[in-house]
Amino acid sequence: AETAKRLEVDAGGITFEDVQFKYGEVPALNGVSFTAPPGQTTALVGPSGGGKSTIFALIERFYDPTEGRVLIADTDLRAVTFESLRAATASVSQNPFLFDGSVERNIGFGRLDASMEEIIEAAKAANAHDFIEALPDGYQTRVGEDGAMLSGGQRQRLAIARAMLRDAPILLLDEATAALDAETENRVAEALDRLKEGRTTLVIAHRLSTIRHAAMIHVIAEGTVVQSGSHAALMEGGGLYRNLHDLQFNTERGDAA
Ligand code: ADP
Repeated sequence: AETAKRLEVDAGGITFEDVQFKYGEVPALNGVSFTAPPGQTTALVGPSGGGKSTIFALIERFYDPTEGRVLIADTDLRAVTFESLRAATASVSQNPFLFDGSVERNIGFGRLDASMEEIIEAAKAANAHDFIEALPDGYQTRVGEDGAMLSGGQRQRLAIARAMLRDAPILLLDEATAALDAETENRVAEALDRLKEGRTTLVIAHRLSTIRHAAMIHVIAEGTVVQSGSHAALMEGGGLYRNLHDLQFNTERGDAA
């Protein structure tokens, strides 16, 4: 908008008000309302194709809603500058974008004026420093096209380090689906816990075991919020969440066997 102003986020919550969205003719969101309160972790779960990624895309304002409003810190995103919106959000996706440059530059991409000390500090907080030091050229090692030199767990931790450096008040986290070995998974989880601290976090969870402690869970299906509550309340209530949970639990038990 011509009159767009800076988005001011101290402790910004995210609000969806009856949001509808279509990709051309394909309906993706059919009236989504929820709030992600400031400084807390709110989780989105649900079957594939339900609309979770579309919710993220609207928060990053890759698209505007067809109907309804998306707000951060009570401000309609259509009324703020892109620059201030980008500065307010950091996203960690399941396939983090890495370019064929050094580890240092890939982390530093989170904030272009960061010093080497700040980059190392971010890498430490992301549990990435030790494996980086063990690479052939340490922080100067080139990661290859799409980070081909690195394992999935290592790529994720570089993305976490980048987000640490960015230090944005709002964190959009699309959890990895791919299974990591138990130790790597612990190191990634620990780094994510550090990253989430004090931020408004919205997480798309593919494995329900990771969101047991989320303040609030919204179950998204067919473009709408079908259930909301804590893990315990949703388990108690039955329905889709309970079904998803039982399905995953049985699959994991099958894998283990
Ligand atoms: P989820 O993240 O829960 O798997 P999505 O938000 O990706 O769900 O998808 C919601 C709906 O929107 C689905 O019907 C999907 O096929 C459709 N969709 C997603 N992205 C696009 C796109 N870029 N173009 C057209 N349709 C899309």
